[in-house]
Amino acid sequence: MRIAIGIDNTIPLHIPSFMQFFHTHSKFITLHEIGSKFRFESDEVSYNDEISKFSQPLRDELKSMDMAIFATAIPYENNYFFEGIDDIYILSLSGWSYLTGLPMSNGVAYLICQIIIKYQMQIGGNHDNTTGCINDFFWDKTGIDIGMRTAFVCDRCKTASAENEYLESQEFKEITSILNSISSACRRDVDILSDPETKKIEQNTLKESPATFLCHNNQDKAQVRTLNEALKNVGIRTWLDEEQIGPGDIWQKVLEDTISGIGSCLIIVGNSGLGPWQDIERRAFISEFANRNCKIIPVIIGNPERPPELPLFLKQFQWADLRNPDGRQLAKLISALQV
Ligand SMILES: [Zn+2]
Repeated sequence: MRIAIGIDNTIPLHIPSFMQFFHTHSKFITLHEIGSKFRFESDEVSYNDEISKFSQPLRDELKSMDMAIFATAIPYENNYFFEGIDDIYILSLSGWSYLTGLPMSNGVAYLICQIIIKYQMQIGGNHDNTTGCINDFFWDKTGIDIGMRTAFVCDRCKTASAENEYLESQEFKEITSILNSISSACRRDVDILSDPETKKIEQNTLKESPATFLCHNNQDKAQVRTLNEALKNVGIRTWLDEEQIGPGDIWQKVLEDTISGIGSCLIIVGNSGLGPWQDIERRAFISEFANRNCKIIPVIIGNPERPPELPLFLKQFQWADLRNPDGRQLAKLISALQV
Protein backbone atom coordinates (compact mmCIF):
# COMPACT_ATOMS: atom_id res chain seq x y z
CA MET A 1 0.00 0.00 0.00
CA ARG A 2 1.67 3.18 -1.23
CA ILE A 3 0.67 6.29 0.66
CA ALA A 4 1.68 9.80 -0.39
CA ILE A 5 2.15 12.03 2.61
CA GLY A 6 2.20 15.81 2.72
CA ILE A 7 2.54 17.69 6.00
CA ASP A 8 2.43 21.48 5.86
CA ASN A 9 4.47 23.87 7.96
CA THR A 10 1.72 24.39 10.56
CA ILE A 11 2.60 21.00 12.06
CA PRO A 12 6.02 20.87 13.72
CA LEU A 13 7.05 17.45 12.55
CA HIS A 14 10.28 16.14 11.02
CA ILE A 15 8.94 14.27 7.99
CA PRO A 16 11.95 11.94 7.40
CA SER A 17 11.80 10.76 11.04
CA PHE A 18 8.05 10.33 10.75
CA MET A 19 8.41 8.17 7.65
CA GLN A 20 11.17 6.22 9.36
CA PHE A 21 8.80 5.48 12.26
CA PHE A 22 6.32 3.86 9.86
CA HIS A 23 8.95 1.98 7.91
CA THR A 24 10.47 0.56 11.08
CA HIS A 25 7.24 -1.39 11.50
CA SER A 26 6.11 -1.93 7.97
CA LYS A 27 7.31 -3.24 4.66
CA PHE A 28 3.99 -3.31 2.86
CA ILE A 29 2.65 0.05 3.93
CA THR A 30 5.08 2.62 2.57
CA LEU A 31 4.94 6.39 2.96
CA HIS A 32 6.22 8.62 0.18
CA GLU A 33 6.78 12.29 0.79
CA ILE A 34 5.01 14.51 -1.70
CA GLY A 35 7.63 16.26 -3.83
CA SER A 36 5.38 18.86 -5.49
CA LYS A 37 4.70 22.07 -3.60
CA PHE A 38 1.39 22.31 -1.81
CA ARG A 39 0.08 24.76 0.76
CA PHE A 40 -3.28 25.50 2.31
CA GLU A 41 -3.75 29.22 1.71
CA SER A 42 -6.96 29.86 3.65
CA ASP A 43 -7.64 30.39 7.36
CA GLU A 44 -10.13 27.56 7.21
CA VAL A 45 -9.79 24.35 5.19
CA SER A 46 -12.66 23.36 2.93
CA TYR A 47 -12.00 19.94 1.39
CA ASN A 48 -13.35 20.56 -2.10
CA ASP A 49 -11.77 24.01 -2.41
CA GLU A 50 -8.35 22.74 -1.42
CA ILE A 51 -8.46 19.70 -3.71
CA SER A 52 -9.53 21.88 -6.65
CA LYS A 53 -6.42 24.02 -6.12
CA PHE A 54 -4.01 21.08 -6.48
CA SER A 55 -1.49 21.67 -9.26
CA GLN A 56 -1.12 19.33 -12.23
CA PRO A 57 2.33 18.06 -11.13
CA LEU A 58 0.83 17.21 -7.73
CA ARG A 59 -2.11 15.37 -9.34
CA ASP A 60 0.32 13.49 -11.57
CA GLU A 61 2.39 12.53 -8.55
CA LEU A 62 -0.64 11.06 -6.79
CA LYS A 63 -1.50 8.80 -9.72
CA SER A 64 1.07 6.17 -8.76
CA MET A 65 -0.18 6.04 -5.13
CA ASP A 66 -2.92 4.02 -3.47
CA MET A 67 -3.88 6.94 -1.29
CA ALA A 68 -2.71 10.39 -0.24
CA ILE A 69 -2.90 12.13 3.12
CA PHE A 70 -2.31 15.84 3.66
CA ALA A 71 -2.02 17.12 7.22
CA THR A 72 -2.33 20.63 8.59
CA ALA A 73 -3.15 22.42 11.84
CA ILE A 74 -5.44 24.90 10.02
CA PRO A 75 -9.05 24.34 11.17
CA TYR A 76 -11.60 22.50 9.05
CA GLU A 77 -14.82 24.33 8.28
CA ASN A 78 -16.76 21.32 9.63
CA ASN A 79 -14.54 20.58 12.65
CA TYR A 80 -13.78 16.96 11.62
CA PHE A 81 -10.32 15.45 12.02
CA PHE A 82 -10.34 14.44 8.36
CA GLU A 83 -12.31 14.14 5.18
CA GLY A 84 -11.53 12.14 2.05
CA ILE A 85 -12.88 11.39 -1.40
CA ASP A 86 -11.23 9.12 -3.99
CA ASP A 87 -8.45 8.10 -1.60
CA ILE A 88 -7.25 11.69 -1.04
CA TYR A 89 -7.60 12.77 2.59
CA ILE A 90 -7.04 16.06 4.36
CA LEU A 91 -6.32 15.84 8.08
CA SER A 92 -6.65 18.77 10.43
CA LEU A 93 -5.16 18.85 13.91
CA SER A 94 -6.48 22.31 14.73
CA GLY A 95 -6.77 23.16 18.42
CA TRP A 96 -4.69 20.07 19.23
CA SER A 97 -3.46 21.29 22.60
CA TYR A 98 -7.07 21.73 23.79
CA LEU A 99 -7.83 18.08 22.97
CA THR A 100 -4.80 16.31 24.39
CA GLY A 101 -1.36 16.90 25.86
CA LEU A 102 0.10 14.19 23.59
CA PRO A 103 2.47 15.16 20.76
CA MET A 104 1.06 16.04 17.34
CA SER A 105 3.32 13.49 15.62
CA ASN A 106 1.60 10.73 17.61
CA GLY A 107 -1.73 12.21 16.50
CA VAL A 108 -0.86 12.32 12.79
CA ALA A 109 0.37 8.70 12.94
CA TYR A 110 -2.76 7.60 14.81
CA LEU A 111 -5.14 9.29 12.38
CA ILE A 112 -3.29 7.83 9.38
CA CYS A 113 -3.79 4.37 10.93
CA GLN A 114 -7.46 5.17 11.45
CA ILE A 115 -7.88 6.13 7.79
CA ILE A 116 -6.11 2.96 6.63
CA ILE A 117 -8.09 0.62 8.89
CA LYS A 118 -11.48 2.27 8.53
CA TYR A 119 -11.46 3.32 4.87
CA GLN A 120 -8.79 1.39 3.00
CA MET A 121 -9.15 -1.95 4.80
CA GLN A 122 -12.74 -1.33 5.91
CA ILE A 123 -12.37 -3.28 9.13
CA GLY A 124 -15.26 -2.58 11.52
CA GLY A 125 -17.66 0.35 11.54
CA ASN A 126 -18.10 3.54 13.53
CA HIS A 127 -18.47 3.50 17.30
CA ASP A 128 -20.68 6.36 18.41
CA ASN A 129 -19.27 6.32 21.94
CA THR A 130 -15.67 6.56 23.04
CA THR A 131 -14.51 2.93 23.43
CA GLY A 132 -10.79 3.35 22.73
CA CYS A 133 -11.15 1.38 19.46
CA ILE A 134 -9.60 2.87 16.32
CA ASN A 135 -13.11 3.07 14.85
CA ASP A 136 -14.40 5.57 17.44
CA PHE A 137 -16.03 8.41 15.55
CA PHE A 138 -14.95 11.18 17.96
CA TRP A 139 -18.18 13.13 18.11
CA ASP A 140 -16.36 14.53 21.10
CA LYS A 141 -12.89 15.19 19.73
CA THR A 142 -11.24 14.90 23.17
CA GLY A 143 -11.86 11.13 22.78
CA ILE A 144 -8.71 11.06 20.67
CA ASP A 145 -6.62 11.18 23.84
CA ILE A 146 -8.03 7.84 25.00
CA GLY A 147 -7.93 6.51 21.43
CA MET A 148 -4.21 7.18 21.12
CA ARG A 149 -3.39 5.68 24.51
CA THR A 150 -5.29 2.47 23.73
CA ALA A 151 -4.70 2.44 19.92
CA PHE A 152 -6.25 -0.92 19.06
CA VAL A 153 -8.95 -2.57 16.96
CA CYS A 154 -11.65 -4.00 19.23
CA ASP A 155 -12.95 -7.58 18.99
CA ARG A 156 -16.38 -6.35 17.96
CA CYS A 157 -14.88 -4.71 14.87
CA LYS A 158 -12.76 -7.77 14.09
CA THR A 159 -15.72 -10.16 14.48
CA ALA A 160 -17.92 -7.95 12.33
CA SER A 161 -15.25 -8.12 9.60
CA ALA A 162 -14.41 -11.83 9.92
CA GLU A 163 -14.74 -12.23 6.14
CA ASN A 164 -12.49 -9.26 5.40
CA GLU A 165 -9.32 -10.59 3.77
CA TYR A 166 -7.21 -7.79 5.26
CA LEU A 167 -7.73 -9.20 8.76
CA GLU A 168 -5.12 -11.95 8.21
CA SER A 169 -2.87 -9.87 5.96
CA GLN A 170 0.69 -8.75 6.59
CA GLU A 171 -0.45 -5.13 6.17
CA PHE A 172 -2.88 -5.52 9.08
CA LYS A 173 -0.18 -7.12 11.24
CA GLU A 174 2.09 -4.20 10.46
CA ILE A 175 -0.52 -1.59 11.24
CA THR A 176 -1.27 -3.34 14.52
CA SER A 177 2.41 -3.11 15.35
CA ILE A 178 2.37 0.64 14.52
CA LEU A 179 -0.67 1.07 16.79
CA ASN A 180 1.09 -0.80 19.59
CA SER A 181 4.05 1.56 19.34
CA ILE A 182 1.76 4.61 19.34
CA SER A 183 -0.12 3.30 22.35
CA SER A 184 3.06 2.44 24.21
CA ALA A 185 4.59 5.90 23.55
CA CYS A 186 1.35 7.73 24.48
CA ARG A 187 1.01 5.87 27.78
CA ARG A 188 4.48 7.09 28.68
CA ASP A 189 3.73 10.59 27.30
CA VAL A 190 6.59 10.23 24.83
CA ASP A 191 6.81 11.45 21.24
CA ILE A 192 6.87 8.45 18.86
CA LEU A 193 9.70 10.12 16.93
CA SER A 194 12.05 10.19 19.91
CA ASP A 195 10.84 7.04 21.64
CA PRO A 196 13.82 4.91 22.67
CA GLU A 197 11.61 1.79 22.34
CA THR A 198 11.09 2.53 18.63
CA LYS A 199 14.82 3.13 18.19
CA LYS A 200 15.47 -0.35 19.62
CA ILE A 201 13.08 -1.96 17.12
CA GLU A 202 14.65 0.13 14.38
CA GLN A 203 18.14 -1.09 15.18
CA ASN A 204 17.05 -4.72 15.31
CA THR A 205 15.22 -4.42 11.99
CA LEU A 206 18.19 -2.71 10.40
CA LYS A 207 20.56 -5.40 11.60
CA GLU A 208 18.41 -8.05 9.95
CA SER A 209 17.49 -6.33 6.72
CA PRO A 210 19.72 -6.76 3.67
CA ALA A 211 21.60 -3.67 2.51
CA THR A 212 21.51 -1.89 -0.82
CA PHE A 213 24.96 -1.38 -2.32
CA LEU A 214 25.42 1.96 -4.09
CA CYS A 215 27.85 1.37 -6.94
CA HIS A 216 28.82 4.77 -8.34
CA ASN A 217 31.46 7.01 -9.81
CA ASN A 218 33.14 9.27 -7.25
CA GLN A 219 32.62 12.26 -9.52
CA ASP A 220 28.86 11.94 -8.93
CA LYS A 221 29.33 11.80 -5.15
CA ALA A 222 27.10 14.78 -4.29
CA GLN A 223 24.05 13.32 -6.02
CA VAL A 224 24.83 9.85 -4.73
CA ARG A 225 24.81 11.24 -1.19
CA THR A 226 21.39 12.80 -1.77
CA LEU A 227 20.05 9.48 -3.03
CA ASN A 228 21.65 7.67 -0.08
CA GLU A 229 19.87 10.01 2.38
CA ALA A 230 16.53 9.61 0.58
CA LEU A 231 16.81 5.81 0.84
CA LYS A 232 17.88 5.85 4.49
CA ASN A 233 15.01 8.17 5.35
CA VAL A 234 12.52 5.50 4.34
CA GLY A 235 14.30 2.82 6.33
CA ILE A 236 16.39 1.24 3.57
CA ARG A 237 19.80 0.14 4.83
CA THR A 238 22.46 1.27 2.38
CA TRP A 239 26.09 0.41 1.75
CA LEU A 240 27.97 3.52 0.66
CA ASP A 241 31.76 3.33 0.69
CA GLU A 242 32.39 6.56 2.63
CA GLU A 243 30.06 5.43 5.43
CA GLN A 244 31.35 1.88 5.66
CA ILE A 245 35.06 2.28 5.20
CA GLY A 246 37.35 3.55 7.91
CA PRO A 247 40.71 5.24 7.38
CA GLY A 248 43.23 2.75 6.01
CA ASP A 249 40.57 0.20 4.98
CA ILE A 250 40.46 -1.10 1.45
CA TRP A 251 36.90 -0.97 0.12
CA GLN A 252 37.16 -4.29 -1.72
CA LYS A 253 38.17 -6.03 1.50
CA VAL A 254 35.40 -4.42 3.57
CA LEU A 255 32.82 -5.24 0.91
CA GLU A 256 34.00 -8.84 0.70
CA ASP A 257 33.48 -9.15 4.45
CA THR A 258 29.96 -7.78 4.29
CA ILE A 259 28.83 -9.15 0.93
CA SER A 260 26.45 -11.70 2.44
CA GLY A 261 24.46 -8.82 3.91
CA ILE A 262 23.86 -7.17 0.53
CA GLY A 263 20.42 -7.78 -0.96
CA SER A 264 20.41 -5.37 -3.85
CA CYS A 265 22.80 -3.29 -5.90
CA LEU A 266 22.15 0.06 -7.52
CA ILE A 267 24.47 0.80 -10.42
CA ILE A 268 24.37 4.56 -10.54
CA VAL A 269 25.04 6.25 -13.84
CA GLY A 270 25.52 10.02 -13.59
CA ASN A 271 26.78 12.95 -15.61
CA SER A 272 30.42 12.07 -15.20
CA GLY A 273 30.34 9.86 -18.28
CA LEU A 274 32.68 7.17 -17.05
CA GLY A 275 30.60 4.41 -15.56
CA PRO A 276 31.57 2.49 -12.44
CA TRP A 277 31.30 -0.77 -14.48
CA GLN A 278 34.57 0.21 -16.18
CA ASP A 279 36.40 -0.57 -12.99
CA ILE A 280 37.32 -4.27 -13.01
CA GLU A 281 36.90 -4.73 -9.27
CA ARG A 282 33.45 -3.20 -9.20
CA ARG A 283 32.48 -5.23 -12.24
CA ALA A 284 33.56 -8.39 -10.38
CA PHE A 285 31.34 -7.44 -7.45
CA ILE A 286 28.40 -6.81 -9.74
CA SER A 287 28.81 -10.32 -11.21
CA GLU A 288 29.04 -11.69 -7.68
CA PHE A 289 25.83 -9.90 -6.70
CA ALA A 290 24.11 -11.26 -9.81
CA ASN A 291 25.27 -14.80 -8.94
CA ARG A 292 23.83 -14.39 -5.47
CA ASN A 293 20.48 -13.37 -6.94
CA CYS A 294 20.78 -9.84 -5.62
CA LYS A 295 18.41 -7.39 -7.23
CA ILE A 296 20.39 -5.25 -9.68
CA ILE A 297 18.90 -1.91 -10.65
CA PRO A 298 20.72 0.56 -12.85
CA VAL A 299 19.84 4.11 -11.78
CA ILE A 300 20.27 7.21 -13.92
CA ILE A 301 20.95 10.46 -12.09
CA GLY A 302 22.11 13.88 -13.20
CA ASN A 303 21.23 16.14 -16.09
CA PRO A 304 17.82 15.39 -17.61
CA GLU A 305 18.87 16.57 -21.08
CA ARG A 306 21.82 14.28 -21.32
CA PRO A 307 20.97 10.83 -22.68
CA PRO A 308 22.49 8.09 -20.53
CA GLU A 309 25.03 5.83 -22.12
CA LEU A 310 23.99 2.31 -21.33
CA PRO A 311 26.56 -0.43 -21.38
CA LEU A 312 25.26 -3.57 -23.03
CA PHE A 313 25.31 -5.85 -20.00
CA LEU A 314 23.09 -3.50 -18.02
CA LYS A 315 20.40 -3.29 -20.68
CA GLN A 316 18.79 -6.50 -19.49
CA PHE A 317 17.78 -4.86 -16.20
CA GLN A 318 14.87 -2.54 -15.47
CA TRP A 319 16.15 1.05 -15.14
CA ALA A 320 15.15 3.70 -12.65
CA ASP A 321 15.52 7.13 -14.23
CA LEU A 322 15.84 9.68 -11.43
CA ARG A 323 16.70 12.64 -13.69
CA ASN A 324 13.11 13.88 -13.52
CA PRO A 325 12.64 15.57 -10.11
CA ASP A 326 8.92 14.75 -9.63
CA GLY A 327 9.69 11.90 -7.22
CA ARG A 328 7.62 9.20 -8.94
CA GLN A 329 10.62 7.22 -10.17
CA LEU A 330 12.24 7.50 -6.74
CA ALA A 331 9.03 6.23 -5.15
CA LYS A 332 9.05 3.28 -7.57
CA LEU A 333 12.70 2.53 -6.84
CA ILE A 334 12.02 2.59 -3.09
CA SER A 335 9.11 0.19 -3.50
CA ALA A 336 11.29 -2.16 -5.54
CA LEU A 337 13.95 -2.13 -2.80
CA GLN A 338 11.45 -2.63 0.01
CA VAL A 339 9.87 -5.80 -1.41
ZN1 LIG B 1 -14.16 -1.34 17.32
